[in-house]
Amino acid sequence: MTTNLTAVLHKIDDLRLEDRAIPEPQDHEVLLEMGSVGICGSDVHYLVRGAIGDFVVKAPMIMGHEASGTVAKVGKNVKNLKVGDRVAIEPGVPCKACEYCKHGRYNLCADIIFCATPPCHGNLCQYYTHAADFCFKLPDHVSLPEGALLEPLSVGVHACRRADVRLGSTVLVTGAGPIGLVSLLSAKAMGATNVIITDIMQNRLDLAKELGADHTILLDKDSDETAIVKKIHALLGKEPDKTIECSGAESSIRIAIQATKSGGVVVIVGMGKPNVTIPLVNALVREVDIRGVFRYANCYPLALEMIASGKVDVKKLITHNYTLEQTLEAFENAKTGAGGAVKIMIHCKKEN
Ligand code: NAD
Ligand code: ZN
Repeated sequence: MTTNLTAVLHKIDDLRLEDRAIPEPQDHEVLLEMGSVGICGSDVHYLVRGAIGDFVVKAPMIMGHEASGTVAKVGKNVKNLKVGDRVAIEPGVPCKACEYCKHGRYNLCADIIFCATPPCHGNLCQYYTHAADFCFKLPDHVSLPEGALLEPLSVGVHACRRADVRLGSTVLVTGAGPIGLVSLLSAKAMGATNVIITDIMQNRLDLAKELGADHTILLDKDSDETAIVKKIHALLGKEPDKTIECSGAESSIRIAIQATKSGGVVVIVGMGKPNVTIPLVNALVREVDIRGVFRYANCYPLALEMIASGKVDVKKLITHNYTLEQTLEAFENAKTGAGGAVKIMIHCKKEN
């Protein structure tokens, strides 16, 4: 191992492949030969806009956070992994000392180091070091691309936990991008019996149907919100008791609140405009809880169990595959969405 080809974002629309040094793992870390890295909407956002909210790319940043790899070296205090183990990499390592960390809500830790969220580097490269306790060993029958998909799947698991989806739940998912689709998969795996999903793109709804959605609704950006709510109720035969908003569209948030059953829960996963107009009084007089969702905490083990047991098949989300050398093409595809792209996977290791 002499090279470490690495995808570095220098500034807006300036992504480069560079050869970097291979890092040495610290005592609690492992060196990973990277396997698969999925492209997330946030990666594309940093490439196109250079920032997401307060997170601004001010210095060159290595891309990538939906990843898996194979252990190439272990630090001297590492007990849970050995060389050759294939792992999914949970990309956010929190401080483990603050109130949030101690309460298990480490996704809220102010000092979390999260891959490819500036100023922290990601792992779209050949060799990368990571805290061993945030690496999850994959059983032999779970592939490296599936390991990478544990990241978005964990968002779906966390969203369903926040929404309290359970056996018999009736669920509305708004938006059928990768995050809406993993929310659908998680809801179904957790026992939801009636799931409806919306989008403005038919190909994404077709995939949702294939993944187990009971109903789909194709929306027009200008569709009448009240009419859509009525249609959701008519198709489900009842009101959803849980709604998972995954589009970030303002109208979708309004529909989510109005469609949800009194006493139900709306979780907001989609990140759109920072300020939106919502029917707040409608929510409060009907005791509809509106809850935020930020990434995930303690979700990798369950997400892995869901894949390993065959309860969910995430592979269908992958529409395009590229090698690490083809990273610029892969990002161009992600930017344009050409070929009905849903999840684009970059394979750092040739034999993936
Ligand atoms: P995406 O852009 O691929 O998916 C959004 C989907 O919503 C698309 O399929 C789009 O066609 C659809 N859409 C747009 N307007 C709509 C409307 N009015 N009604 C219904 N559908 C509509 O993105 P993604 O990767 O699936 O992520 C979804 C959202 O979740 C993004 O806003 C992203 O920033 C956010 N996100 C949040 C977290 C978190 O921790 N809260 C984590 C990951 C992603
Ligand atoms: Zn902390």
